[in-house]
Amino acid sequence: MDTEVLAGRLRALVGADAVLTDRQELRTYECDGLAHYRVVPAMVVLAASTADVAATVTECARAGVPFVARGSGTGLSGGALPHADGVLIVMSRMRDVLEVDRDNQRAVVEPGVINLQLSDLTRPVGYYYAPDPSSQQVCSIGGNVAENSGGAHCLKYGFTTNHVTGLELVTAAGDVVEVGGKAPDPTGYDLLGALVGSEGTLGIATRVTVRLTRTPEDVSTLLAAFASTDAAGEAVSAIIGAGVIPAAIEMMDALAIEAAEAAVHCDYPAGAGAVLIVEIDGPAPDVRHVFAEVERHCRDAGAFEIRIARDDTERALFWKGRKSAFAAVGRISPDYIVQDGVIPRTSLPEVLRAIAELSERSGVRVANVFHAGDGNLHPLVLFDDGHEGEAERAEEVSGAILDLCIEHGGSITGEHGVGADKAKFMPRMFTDDDLDTMQLVRCAFDPDSISNPGKVFPTPRLCGERPGRHQGAHPLAEAGVAEVF
Ligand SMILES: Cc1cc2nc3c(=O)[nH]c(=O)nc-3n(C[C@H](O)[C@H](O)[C@H](O)COP(=O)(O)OP(=O)(O)OC[C@H]3O[C@@H](n4cnc5c(N)ncnc54)[C@H](O)[C@@H]3O)c2cc1C
Repeated sequence: MDTEVLAGRLRALVGADAVLTDRQELRTYECDGLAHYRVVPAMVVLAASTADVAATVTECARAGVPFVARGSGTGLSGGALPHADGVLIVMSRMRDVLEVDRDNQRAVVEPGVINLQLSDLTRPVGYYYAPDPSSQQVCSIGGNVAENSGGAHCLKYGFTTNHVTGLELVTAAGDVVEVGGKAPDPTGYDLLGALVGSEGTLGIATRVTVRLTRTPEDVSTLLAAFASTDAAGEAVSAIIGAGVIPAAIEMMDALAIEAAEAAVHCDYPAGAGAVLIVEIDGPAPDVRHVFAEVERHCRDAGAFEIRIARDDTERALFWKGRKSAFAAVGRISPDYIVQDGVIPRTSLPEVLRAIAELSERSGVRVANVFHAGDGNLHPLVLFDDGHEGEAERAEEVSGAILDLCIEHGGSITGEHGVGADKAKFMPRMFTDDDLDTMQLVRCAFDPDSISNPGKVFPTPRLCGERPGRHQGAHPLAEAGVAEVF
């Protein structure tokens, strides 16, 4: 359908000021946090309600036009990258916290609500929203749901999927459906489990019911400095091996520390080859006991300096270096790739050594910042796009790091998602049968493949196509014991 005709219909449904077609305005939305992929959408709709989203999607479905949902656009895998012929449906006008149900420890929010906004609102009544991506000051709950986002404290509290109990979803046909609610564990297939982390390919979340977590009575945070990432990794293994689950264990290597110092002057111990930030929370006596144990493991592993935050200001300073690390790398390199892979945490020392060797061999610098407690690596691969060939070499190193993650029993993404960027890596992890099975789920929700097409799967496939190599009749149908419907 002609863009202007569709825009006219949508203006009549959602309001003239909510539909953008001016190219200059559209360029605001041409990328997400992974800015080297850029596509200008045909149209943007600034949805203000579920009805706006449903009306827009219904028109897209009628016209066979693809659509992409966008939260705050902080994604790092090109998930919210627009479709050149499609409609980008932006959630930033849907920022109301609809209900805080303290007695049931639930909140119901619109998808554009900013992650930290919810915790700020609920903290005065003794609760907060636990999943805490480092981008929490700007990223949206809808984006978190789509990416199944994690954060420093997900080691103890779990990822987004552990905190979402219900969704209102606009399906790819434009229908509004409810999945789950305030009660835990609804009967039947775990559709909520399928939807959280589906990267906008199964529809658009327009309302999210989340679990609220009680604010802990006490919190203690330490910063330990080690000569090397090996020594710091040893401390991590010892802490977890002793059965202690801190709220967070984060590691930064020397290059990442250098960047953070240059950007935010976090004053980490001089000469450290690695620092660990370990946070313990819970009832005060438990925190004291566990904290002493953590401190002992750090010293045994060779920590040459341990600082303990005396108050919230010092705690914030410890975290400032870590939370600003991605952007801080801009101080030591004009360009960089934020990689995201995950490995079993026991493989940390080995994989970090292999990354260092890769960096030395290729001449490409790699800074490491990561959620050490759950083996979620964020290697920052540095390059200068102004120098010929550097970007390609950085891409190669970045891909080789993912191969290392797979070889060690890990995965190509810990929390940033597959999006447009990592679709090509999916066959390195999954067989054709695996991918076909995932496609069947996608086709069940979105038979016309209009909801965020081109993401997650390496090869676009139409849902009418029979997936994979199973071309014959189903053996059960042939035997007459099952019916094909
Ligand atoms: C500095 C920085 C630090 C970061 N740190 C972390 C971190 O610690 N942990 C982590 O997990 N991530 C992190 N991220 C990545 C990013 O912030 C998360 O993936 C976040 O959840 C994206 O939210 P968003 O609102 O920006 O979503 P967007 O980027 O707008 O969209 C992300 C995906 O969600 C889909 N989507 C958005 N809204 C909806 C909806 N309502 N319904 C269906 N699909 C939707 C989009 O189509 C897209 O596929 C970081 C990013 C930056 C820039």
